[in-house]
Amino acid sequence: MVNYKELGLVNTKEMFAKALKGGYAVPAFNFNNLEQLQAIVTAAATEKSPVILQVSKGARNYANGTILRYLGMAAVEYAKELGWEKPQIVLHLDHGDSFELCKDCIDNGFSSVMIDGSHLPYEENVALTKKVCDYAHQFDVTVEGELGVLAGVEDEVSADHHTYTNPEEVVDFATRTGCDSLAISIGTSHGAYKFTPEQCTRNAEGKLVPPPLAFDVLEGVMKKFEKQGGFPIVLHGSSSVPEEYVEMCNTYGGKLPNAIGIPESELTKASKSAVCKINIDSDSRLAFTGAVRKHFAEHPDHFDPRQYCGDARKEMIKMYTHKIVNVLGSKGKAE
Ligand SMILES: [Zn+2]
Repeated sequence: MVNYKELGLVNTKEMFAKALKGGYAVPAFNFNNLEQLQAIVTAAATEKSPVILQVSKGARNYANGTILRYLGMAAVEYAKELGWEKPQIVLHLDHGDSFELCKDCIDNGFSSVMIDGSHLPYEENVALTKKVCDYAHQFDVTVEGELGVLAGVEDEVSADHHTYTNPEEVVDFATRTGCDSLAISIGTSHGAYKFTPEQCTRNAEGKLVPPPLAFDVLEGVMKKFEKQGGFPIVLHGSSSVPEEYVEMCNTYGGKLPNAIGIPESELTKASKSAVCKINIDSDSRLAFTGAVRKHFAEHPDHFDPRQYCGDARKEMIKMYTHKIVNVLGSKGKAE
């Protein structure tokens, strides 16, 4: 049994309470490898932004859960080395799909877990989420639940279309499960192809413009939580799929036609509401791949991973910093 407190990690409790009051969102970045972790910690430490390091099932399959956990621990020490005296770093399980997996993470140093029962019938989702909360809270580990289904593909999580969260269920769910935050579905989705061209309109330049998020659903949810002074809301699938990186990929041999994400202006609007945690994964993949493709095109003779992964890391630091400073407003919130 390793408790996260011994590792210098924090849970999401105070972090979300401050974000709720302060009108900003904490970035939750997924990581699978060393360069992503270094880039996330560098950006967060430089900007003094609270940050959530997320580990998905796909990441565990790729990099091994034990290795990722030790990287999570290294994050705290690395942040201190970079001059961040009191790092506010959460190590979070993304899309936990069973009590056993959540328990395993809680027992091994994670400070927060998500139990995703959103695909289950309502009462089964309540029962599973409550079981995880009851276990987690003994160790002061925070739990994210989910209501509503997101479209798209993210590692092993996939669905054909959205089912928006029903605001009528949220208070009952939060009260009966005891969850600390709630992921909702308002039109964001997993992956780099969030909308088909048919779902979009075209602007004057002929570029695809995605349909707006269902802010009415978010407002409906917030209204229900008004009596208890608000509740931390989470948005999954919130990469913006920056044109610059899609173009970088495509210019240097990639083939990502019509990749499209959530406009950053919508994410900024959401950050100012009860949305306290915004999940970003695809943008890191795109920045990494774009930088590597460019590097190879410009240096066909290179074969040292430190050369092209170094470029990828630089590009990711830029991207993470941009999210913290210009999109989510979390800069300076963890001095
Ligand atoms: Zn997700």
